[in-house]
Amino acid sequence: MECGVHKVITDCKDFFLENEIWILSFLGGFQRAHIYKNMDLREEFKNSLKQEIRKIVLSNYVNTRVSTKQHIENLEYIIAWSTSSPFNSILRGGKLRWGVVQKIFNLYLKYLWCWGRIPSPPHCPFDSFILNHLGFNSKWTRMNSKAEYLEWVETAASHAQKKGLSVPEWELSVYEKNRILTQTEFNCLSIGDDFIDFFVLQAGFQKKNFPEIILSFEKPPLLHKAEPYWESIPIDGVLGQYDSIYQRIIIYIVGIDCLLQRWNFDFTDLMCIVLLHEIAHWITHKLPHLSAQEWPLDDYLFTVSEVHEGLAQIIVYLYLQYKGISSLRRTFKRLTQLQPTAYNIYNKNLFGNLIKKNHVKIMNSLITLRNKRKSISSLNEWLSLI
Ligand SMILES: [Zn+2]
Repeated sequence: MECGVHKVITDCKDFFLENEIWILSFLGGFQRAHIYKNMDLREEFKNSLKQEIRKIVLSNYVNTRVSTKQHIENLEYIIAWSTSSPFNSILRGGKLRWGVVQKIFNLYLKYLWCWGRIPSPPHCPFDSFILNHLGFNSKWTRMNSKAEYLEWVETAASHAQKKGLSVPEWELSVYEKNRILTQTEFNCLSIGDDFIDFFVLQAGFQKKNFPEIILSFEKPPLLHKAEPYWESIPIDGVLGQYDSIYQRIIIYIVGIDCLLQRWNFDFTDLMCIVLLHEIAHWITHKLPHLSAQEWPLDDYLFTVSEVHEGLAQIIVYLYLQYKGISSLRRTFKRLTQLQPTAYNIYNKNLFGNLIKKNHVKIMNSLITLRNKRKSISSLNEWLSLI
């Protein structure tokens, strides 16, 4: 009897969880995909689709690892099923698209796999984040080609193989990293906005949205400059980069991760400091000002790095002083102590305490540098303007 009660409870738990999984799978598969032409029979359609997929999964995926060939046949079966009456009349284009079917089917399998109900599925769900990560520009919601889907799978398999992972394991690791990053990025971007407002309100600059920010998972180009001791760490090329030619900011997650393993920083604070530093480079180069042109690209590129780093560091420092965000100030100070000389110029005696607090003088010197129409070849050339 007791056993029977437990069995019922176990069944209820399973029933509850599977129901939740379906809610999430439909959310992930149908949200923003605009699949319906009209909303009649919508619930009936969802229920029938659920039964069709469930039937296939129960008979194929529970005890065996399904091959790519068989999985593709199953996806094709669902697409063909969706063309049947009466559901074809409520769907845009009379059927479900490849992109939508792969998303809902693969997402349902991902949940069952993570729940421990099935062995590793053959593929992973492809959404805009994963596609972007793989270098595809296409929209999964509109995609309707078996050949294109196979191309996605092949590319994901080669990424996974490089990491020694299966496709679902690879997707899970990338996706989870992104979940943490999205929140972090959001926090950092709102500070970035405020950072620009500071120059608009306090130093007469004009508002402009900052450039594209790319999170890179590749090995940073100058990682070797920080390895193996992580005691002299340039920001640029290791943790981030302002690309003045293509007008974008790159954040190197691998570099940030390596630094975190060596030194105990808060991930979000460190990422914000790197982002502020790169936005500061962009401000010096591009932020519009009524009495200064943008820094001409050639002059900007050939100006000595001490001037670039000195300017970027001091304006981040001034902003953090002004805003009084203590955790970021601490992170900035600690990171600076681990950085090469160029990043510490702002902190040397030659600035003096008075200048450090006087952002107007610093920003006026920037305006003069921009208007000079030549590259600056020595640090003193800038310092003499302050
Ligand atoms: Zn820099």
